Amino acid sequence: MGLVVQKYGGTSVGSVERIKAVAERVSAAKARGDRIVVVVSAMAGETNRLFKLASELAEAPNARETDVLVATGEQVSAALLAIRLNSMGFPCASFLAHQLKIATDSQHGRAKIKSIEADRIKAVLKEDKIAVVAGYQGVDPLGDVTTLGRGASDLTAVALAAALKADICEIYTDVDGVYTADPNIVPTARRLDRISYDEMLEMAGLGAKVLQLRSVELARRFNVPLVVRSSFGEGKGTWVGQGDASMEDVLVSGVTLDQNQAKVTIAGVEDRPGLAAKIFGPIADAGIIVDMIIQNASADGRTDMTFTVPRDDVRRAIDIVKKIGAEIGISGVRFEDPVAKVSIVGLGMRSHAGVAAKMFRVLADERINIEMIATSEIKVSVVVNSKYGELAMRALHDNFIGAGNGAEESV
Ligand code: ADP
Ligand code: ASP
Ligand code: MG
Repeated sequence: MGLVVQKYGGTSVGSVERIKAVAERVSAAKARGDRIVVVVSAMAGETNRLFKLASELAEAPNARETDVLVATGEQVSAALLAIRLNSMGFPCASFLAHQLKIATDSQHGRAKIKSIEADRIKAVLKEDKIAVVAGYQGVDPLGDVTTLGRGASDLTAVALAAALKADICEIYTDVDGVYTADPNIVPTARRLDRISYDEMLEMAGLGAKVLQLRSVELARRFNVPLVVRSSFGEGKGTWVGQGDASMEDVLVSGVTLDQNQAKVTIAGVEDRPGLAAKIFGPIADAGIIVDMIIQNASADGRTDMTFTVPRDDVRRAIDIVKKIGAEIGISGVRFEDPVAKVSIVGLGMRSHAGVAAKMFRVLADERINIEMIATSEIKVSVVVNSKYGELAMRALHDNFIGAGNGAEESV
């Protein structure tokens, strides 16, 4: 008898009919003899609806109260699923984060999990019941409601799987696995049978929202076996786990698009030691993740610096830069919102030269201008005008993965 954590995303619990279908799947797994913990997201669109309500009442809604508000979406779907399962004769109890002591810090909207005390779940499982858990939420040291960041029901699921030492964490969503590119944008994308934690981490960080970034980090750290499957049908899905040598044969296993970055340029920064630290230190202290940074060659002792940040953080980043700019003397700040970041990811890049050059050629053939470039061992990212993001993604997919260049799935 195994212990299985199943997570169902927003579309999968998006209506009464969908919740009934999820209850069927959960009860079938229970009937096979496994102990089942289910994590649910809010019903499709609900979290956005709640954020919008808040924004209609305040320009910058209070972060603590926003968490109280948006965490309700998951409470509703957890209760509804538990009501259905109980009515089907499958004893079941739903839980909110404070009942399981999913303890986080107090960074509302982006709280980090510190620990989980899953005793209540263990007790429920011992009684042969199903546990249903509201995803996305936590509780801080004061007992206040926190949320873990958008898409973080995945994180709740992986964290519970790690805490309970589950045999597997199954992520049920509206696609039947992890694809070589978002199948809703790239029609020729193929499902991968397997992908390594490292590749999935890069893909999630670069815009493939099929798995939330921190959930993949946690799965890798605690070696939680993950599988991504469709809640709409049967299928093998995609296994996410440790990479092996055979995966290195694949040059590029995925192409991603992130339309949520904004580009900020600081003009006329004096070219002397210490200024970059002066600018980027406070941005980091504010919890803003700076992705790419470019410093242009200096002219007359002054230089331009360009960097990208998540779109939601761009206002805060600009305020910080303006404040420091007034101290250190700059000639201006401008920003372009949004830009598209397109990336190719693959373990095989570690041992192959010329991947970036080929990427640039593909984009040049499409007459797409590259504004910024960043590389790591297993990825190359470029920033382009957001108008061309999807075109760039399709062109790169067809050239590296799709159009018969010999690349195979990492099987
Ligand atoms: P859920 O609500 O179940 O958490 P999400 O919307 O967060 O679902 O994630 C599923 C979506 O991720 C898919 O509908 C798809 O558009 C998108 N996606 C982006 N990149 C990929 C990829 N490489 N493979 C599969 N899906 C992807
Ligand atoms: N409901 C939350 C969101 O929309 C969490 C999740 O879906 O995973 O971001
Ligand atoms: Mg998701």
